[in-house]
This record gives sequence, structure tokens and C-alpha cells, in this order.
Amino acid sequence: MSIRWRLTLFNALAIGLILLVLGLVLFFLLRSALLSDVENTVQSRAVTAARTIESGDALSQDDTEQLTLDGVFVIVRDGRGEVLTQTVSLPQDGEDGEGVWRRALKTGEPASGTAELSRKEGEDYLYAVPVNPPDGSPTGLAQVVEAGKSYGNAEETLEVFGTVLAIGIGTAFLLSLLGAYFLARTALRPVDAVVSSAREITESDLSRRLPVANPKDEIGRLAATFNALLSRLEAAFARREEALVRQRRFAADASHELRTPLTSIRGYTRMLKGWAMDDPRTARESVAAIDRESERMQDLVEALLALTRGDEGAPLDVGRHDLAEVAAEAVEAARTAASGKVSVEYAGGTEVEATFDRDRVRQVASILLDNAVKYTPEGGSVEVRVGEEESRAILEVSDTGAGIAEDQLQLVFERFHRADPSRTEGGAGLGLSIARQIAESHGGTIEVDSEQGKGSTFTLLIPRGDGVP
Ligand code: ADP
Repeated sequence: MSIRWRLTLFNALAIGLILLVLGLVLFFLLRSALLSDVENTVQSRAVTAARTIESGDALSQDDTEQLTLDGVFVIVRDGRGEVLTQTVSLPQDGEDGEGVWRRALKTGEPASGTAELSRKEGEDYLYAVPVNPPDGSPTGLAQVVEAGKSYGNAEETLEVFGTVLAIGIGTAFLLSLLGAYFLARTALRPVDAVVSSAREITESDLSRRLPVANPKDEIGRLAATFNALLSRLEAAFARREEALVRQRRFAADASHELRTPLTSIRGYTRMLKGWAMDDPRTARESVAAIDRESERMQDLVEALLALTRGDEGAPLDVGRHDLAEVAAEAVEAARTAASGKVSVEYAGGTEVEATFDRDRVRQVASILLDNAVKYTPEGGSVEVRVGEEESRAILEVSDTGAGIAEDQLQLVFERFHRADPSRTEGGAGLGLSIARQIAESHGGTIEVDSEQGKGSTFTLLIPRGDGVP
């Protein structure tokens, strides 16, 4: 059963039940009030009549009129039960409610009961009071006064009231059923809107949002939460799409980079196979070229592997190391490689302890130094500095080289990006992306500051980690 119908039925049943209970309570309260009104009237008339007789007066015309107001009848009997006065004609069939007056006569106490004396609609209530005649009064006088009244009027009123009540309750129940249905329908209408909108949202169209009719009610909040979920999904899909594009571009770039040395290796081998074997000079040159190209391929493959490992989140082999020592080591190696083309100096910096993977950070230092040497013309200088700033260890490599154009500054960290592809000394454009990846895997960054024609400064910043105040 739908929520709408469940709500409707629950509401209607609850209201119906309340109305019914209220109606019944009301009915029985009124019934008891009406009946006891009849009984009280009858009792007070019987007592009044008895007192009048006891005081020695016979019931006058006036008394009788007073006593029989509102449909009350009075019967006065002597000790043998003979009727002395009666304001109602007793039925011929002998039915005279005898039980009541007899009991009163016998016990000397008032007695009550019901009978059908007045032949009015419904039963009569009877109340008999024994009379104690004043001393010395002759026997054969009044001994018992009986008053009575039909319940008919009260029952009639109750019948009318009951009918009106039943019709009222029935109508109210129907109205509440209708009201509950429309209320449930109105309240749940936004759900239908949400459902039909949600149905229209597909993987390719995650930008759609559900309608939020009232952001403060439950359905509005549900729709808003769903919309937030959609936003997160959309962002996740966009990220996935972006990652796929990047991956595709990476694969294409990698194949392209590998194809160049491969083509030249194949060219030389074909040449060797064809004729160059017989020409020792060409053969030597070809072998040297093949060696050079295969080395380039090897570097490239290693760089690709390093990047892939970084992407996969390969674990770091961290420990407490001195960054100054790592930097000095890298400077030594770079100086040897530069072989006097540019000066490579370690500009100082005392011990800076930090937590890092020594080999990887050494690799970053080498990449930065290689680039500095590579992109600095002869006679220039490269300087390395190590320091600390707040809780970070710093390695700075500056050169007096070509510099990088402002619009290229952030791009140089992209995979396969070369700031100036026309330069022959450049590599595949993977060095800085590996360096940044290593920095980020340590929770650090690499920053660049450069001015074209003047030189560049690359700064590696990594958190010093454990034991740093
Ligand atoms: P590559 O193998 O080309 O050196 P990198 O990722 O290490 O790849 O560097 C990307 C690009 O950034 C280089 O092609 C170069 O144009 C520029 N670059 C890097 N370091 C320097 C530097 N010290 N001075 C000038 N340009 C640099």
C-alpha cells in the first residue's frame, strides 16, 4: 500500500476513533442526565405528597396540579392497597406496578421500580414513599404515595440526539478521510516530482538537479542531500574523466618519446646490416649512435617507471637524514658531470635533519641540478643552498641560466612538458614531474622562481617530521 493511502487511512481511523469515543461518552452522559432528571423529579414529588399527607392535609386540587406538572402522576393508597387518589387511569389488566408500593408499605422505606402504567411511549419510573399518618387519625387513610413518570420523553430526546450524533460523526469521518487524503497527496506531491526528476538523471547528465520546493521540510532536505550527493558524483566523474584523459595523453606521449630513439636505432641497424659493416668508421659511428639512443631509451623507461610507481603510491623508505649531506653529495656528482662547463657550488647550510626517503630526495636534488647545469650556458654558475623555515626543510638550486618564461612557470611540472622544445639539450620533459611527485609524496612541494635570461631558482620544501619542535 502506498504511503499516501497509509497516511490517509491512519489519519482517518485515528480521527474516526476519537469521534466515536467522544460521541459515545457524550451520549451516555446525556442519557444518564436525562434519566436521573426524570427520577429526581418523581422522587421529590412523591416525598412532597407524602409530607403533605403526613402533615394532616388531604391533597388539595392545587397540590395535585403542582404535583403532576411535567407529566408526573401520583397514586395514593390506603393500608390495604385501595386507591384513594389517582391522577392516572390504571390499566385494566391489573398491572399497577404493585411491586413498588407493596415493598414500600411492607418495609416502611421508599421503594422504586419500573412499570407500564401511563401507557405513554416507554416505561414509567415509579417511586413509592410510605406515609406515617398523624397519631390518632382513623385507619383506612392514606398509607403509601406513589409517583411515576414515563421515560418516554427522555428516550425521545436521546433518540434524536443519537441520530444527530451518528450523522455528525459519519460526516466528520468522511470529511476527515477526504482531508487526510488531500493532505497526504499535497504533502507527497514533491516526492513524485523528485522521483520523476531522479529518473531522468543519467550517467551522462549528472549536471541535473532535483527540484527543492521547500528546503526546510523533510522532502526538501532529502532532495538537497541528494543534490549534494549528485554534485559529489559529478565531481568524481569529472576527476575520473580528467584522469583518463591525462592517462591517455601520457601513454601517447610516452610512445611518441620512445619511438624517436627506436626509429634511429632501427635506422642504424639496417645500415649496419646493409653495408656499414664494411666501413669501419661508419660502423663505429652507428654503434655509438645505437648506444646513445638506447641509453636515452633506458633513461626514459626508468623515468616512466618512477612516475608510475609514484602514481601507484609506492611506499617511501623514510628515516632521519641530513638534507645538507644529501645536497653536498648531489653537488659533487653534478660538478663532475658539468666538467667545467658551469661552476656548481654548495653555498652552505649546516645540518638540517628531516624525515625523508634519502634515495628519492637525492633524486630530486639530481634532477634540479641536472636541469640547472643543462639550461645554463657555458661560464654560468649553479648554487645549492640548504636551510629550514618553520617546520620545513629547504633545498634551493639556483642558476644563472636561460630562465623560464612566466607563462611556462607552472607548466614545467607537467609530464612531457618542455618550456622550449627547440632547445636540443632538453630531455623528455619528465624530470620535474618526477621531482614534484616525490616532493608531494613527502607532504611537501616544489616552487619555482625564474626570470628569463637571468636564471631560475627551484626550491624543494619538505616537512621536517618527527622530533621537530
Ligand atoms: P627535461 O627533461 O626537458 O629537462 P624537465 O621536466 O626536467 O624536463 O623540465 C621541463 C622543462 O622545464 C624543460 O624542458 C625546460 O624547458 C624547463 N626547465 C627546467 N629546469 C630549468 C632551468 N633550471 N632553467 C631553465 N629552464 C628549465
